[in-house]
Amino acid sequence: MRKIDYLIIGQGLAGSAIAWTLLRRGKSVMVIDEPSHNLASAVAAGMINPITGRIMTKTWLADDIFPFLHSFYSGAESATKSKFFHPTSLYRPFLSSEENHQWQRKIKSEEVTRFIRALHTFPAYEDQVLNPWGGIEIEHAGFINVVQWMKILRDELIRNDSYRNERYDDDNLVANESITYQDLSAHKIIFCNGTSVLDTKWFHWVPLKPLKGETLLIKTGLSRDRIFSRGVFVVPTDEEGIFTAGSTYVHPPFTDGPTQTGQEDISRKLKALIRPSFDIIHQGWGIRPTTPDRRPILGAHPANKKVLIFNGLGTKGVSLAPYFAHQLADWLEGNGDLMTEVNINRFKPLYSE
Ligand SMILES: Cc1cc2nc3c(=O)[nH]c(=O)nc-3n(C[C@H](O)[C@H](O)[C@H](O)COP(=O)(O)OP(=O)(O)OC[C@H]3O[C@@H](n4cnc5c(N)ncnc54)[C@H](O)[C@@H]3O)c2cc1C
Repeated sequence: MRKIDYLIIGQGLAGSAIAWTLLRRGKSVMVIDEPSHNLASAVAAGMINPITGRIMTKTWLADDIFPFLHSFYSGAESATKSKFFHPTSLYRPFLSSEENHQWQRKIKSEEVTRFIRALHTFPAYEDQVLNPWGGIEIEHAGFINVVQWMKILRDELIRNDSYRNERYDDDNLVANESITYQDLSAHKIIFCNGTSVLDTKWFHWVPLKPLKGETLLIKTGLSRDRIFSRGVFVVPTDEEGIFTAGSTYVHPPFTDGPTQTGQEDISRKLKALIRPSFDIIHQGWGIRPTTPDRRPILGAHPANKKVLIFNGLGTKGVSLAPYFAHQLADWLEGNGDLMTEVNINRFKPLYSE
């Protein structure tokens, strides 16, 4: 029997962040992942944005999460001698002159100043974007190449014989006082398998809400200097002239795969946002693991403290994963508690043996 500290199921953004965090703390892990089954991270545009929503407010925990993700991803880049993290500003055109005036007042509030690079009261970047009332340039934004980050970590895990490309099967898991899975004996198991966790006998009861999203990969003459976002986002990729645009938000019931409606919806919003013409070169789709209260789910199974979950990253996996992987790892080491808002205990009433 091979002994390890943690068995991790799934290597999307959640599994990658916790695997990397535990490895950096000197723990041994084994990641079991079936990349072909990845439902969210592989399609994510990788965008990082601290000011979101129609009325543009600072996102939850932004003051902590955004500095943290910066050091997490740039630290991972240095340690692996790679490049996948691209801090850049994000320009969001105003929807009306009224919004322009509101922001001239709002910009003075301490709440948001650190996240605002510039307020444009007149149209800016006019060869790039339609913004008759100006817009706001957001700081601490950016994007990561998610597929690249997952690949870099996977290669690292493979080098350490800590990765198995296979499907996790509940029938092979024995979880009592200790965890055994095939030839492995682990201290604990952490389920990071996105919406597939609903197929397990351990966490089928958590109120994860699948939310389908589609994206378009487009070829356009847009500048790579910043992300544009209003109703739809346009994020550069590592390839010159190629951008990811998206996305849609579709609740169940939905059909798997890309749709004509998704393509038309994104294209229409893009035409109202960017000036250069674009060609669609690919259409992607995925399923986000969201929760009713829009907070992640972390912690131990009510009946077995050795069986854990790290899930519910919703629409913001890139920004939430590093911070909460760190919090989970601290808690596993007996340092501090999980925040009440993310602790799986909030859903305990839904569990019955
Ligand atoms: C269209 C779209 C665009 C998005 N854009 C952004 C964005 O720009 N910025 C952002 O922050 N977030 C974005 N998101 C959200 C983000 O993708 C999610 O928050 C995040 O990917 C969730 O990660 P996860 O690791 O929990 O789940 P997943 O990415 O689903 O990963 C789960 C992993 O578990 C594996 N797995 C599942 N079952 C098994 C099994 N039985 N055996 C072995 N392995 C298994 C899967 O293969 C996968 O690798 C987007 C999502 C979508 C759908």
